[in-house]
Amino acid sequence: MRITVVGAGYVGLSTGLVLASLGNEVYFVDVEEKKIEDLKKGLVPFKEPYVKGLLEKTTRSGNIEFSNLYSTTIPNSDLVFICVGTPPKVNGEVDLRQVKKAIKSIGECLSRRFTVIVVKSTVPVGMAKQLKNTLAKAGHKNFAIVSNPEFLREGSAIKDSLTPDRIVIGSDQSKAVKVLIKLYRPIIKQKFENIIVERLPREIPLVLTSNESAELIKYASNAFLTTKISFINEIANIAENVGADITDVAKALGLDPRIGDKFLDAGIGWGGSCFPKDVRALHQIAGNSGYMPVLLKSVIEVNNEQRYRFLQKISKALGENIEGKTIAVLGVAFKSGTDDVRESPAIEIINKLLELGAKIKAYDPLALENAKKVLKNNSDITFCTSPYDAAKGVSALIITTEWPEFKNLNFRRIKSLLKSPILIDGRNLIDKDMVKKLGFKYWAVGRK
Ligand code: NAD
Repeated sequence: MRITVVGAGYVGLSTGLVLASLGNEVYFVDVEEKKIEDLKKGLVPFKEPYVKGLLEKTTRSGNIEFSNLYSTTIPNSDLVFICVGTPPKVNGEVDLRQVKKAIKSIGECLSRRFTVIVVKSTVPVGMAKQLKNTLAKAGHKNFAIVSNPEFLREGSAIKDSLTPDRIVIGSDQSKAVKVLIKLYRPIIKQKFENIIVERLPREIPLVLTSNESAELIKYASNAFLTTKISFINEIANIAENVGADITDVAKALGLDPRIGDKFLDAGIGWGGSCFPKDVRALHQIAGNSGYMPVLLKSVIEVNNEQRYRFLQKISKALGENIEGKTIAVLGVAFKSGTDDVRESPAIEIINKLLELGAKIKAYDPLALENAKKVLKNNSDITFCTSPYDAAKGVSALIITTEWPEFKNLNFRRIKSLLKSPILIDGRNLIDKDMVKKLGFKYWAVGRK
């Protein structure tokens, strides 16, 4: 099929490359000219496994093209995927300007041919209907709007696109649903040739529903995942007060299949480009609908509080005196496996420590370049080339992202580099018995 992907970011590029690798013709349109020029040269704007390889492969096979002109591709497309950003406004509402601009541009170029417009961006409930009205008002008739929320995770975007847990298709137009099922058939049936992921020995479940339900499914999924994290963090805070160990508690909880062992890691809380904005948006959507979501409000509050509790821990470990001290921060990405620092708890903690007069030596395996952009022009922060470089001469070392390689650092060497052997683990990553035996003063979340 011939597809236009509007917005070549994490979601658009990953989705489009996967669809191109399945034999479709994919045209990417983005308003950022530099991004388009870079992609034409084979340069990927973010760090994500397999994306560069797929970009090279699909460029070689002639299945993809990049442009900033809608007019060259929309009139001949069977499907148009909207994958533009839906960032938050300061009041928590969703900023829909990119989506509205995209639909306007699409509307200006639609031809008489039947076109399925697929909304992959995470949008408030009712948005599909609004987009439909916009196009209908502009005189278009031969189109359908399908809500097809995206669940890929940064760090495993290609794998998640090829082997998703489910595919949700929301529409009231069966003709459009048929087109989408045909497009996704190789994924649903797990029939594709690749060396990237192991195909699953089963079909991918398909959920056919209305636009509104599909839109809500995306928000509800993220809200549930953040609820799980805020829940375990709340239990961790109780564990700290009563002398229990949250890692043992979480392990036992997770063995109950009704609960499951995922997203039960206590720490400094959730962040990233999706969770915070989506939970705040759902809170707003609920409020606008006339329902006060008490649980969601607490999920957000527990998460905000968790960072401040961690700062208090750092302050206590340093004798209530942060000013003038240098602290090594391991991890700036919002989670391991990505270079994304959007709404990263680590960045918030660094900013707070700087405000309190600390100097920072930061290290991250992937995300330092992005961190430099958001922590710009601050002479009190040094970006380091290794964890050992960061540890040299500092008063404490803190762990803020759960990069697996931090587990296996040479802590004997780290200790010899530190000014004082203080280790504050915001992700409960380190073997506490091992570091305590080495003579570290060790703090974690929900365990002694
Ligand atoms: P992104 O910011 O990485 O990419 C968005 C792209 O859209 C940018 O390249 C931007 O230049 C382009 N763009 C903006 N306005 C445009 C327009 N009018 N025409 C053409 N291009 C335009 O965003 P993302 O992380 O890929 O997220 C996209 C959507 O998917 C969001 O709604 C997000 O909530 C959702 N989502 C993201 C993830 C994730 O892990 N990043 C996962 C699931 C869902």
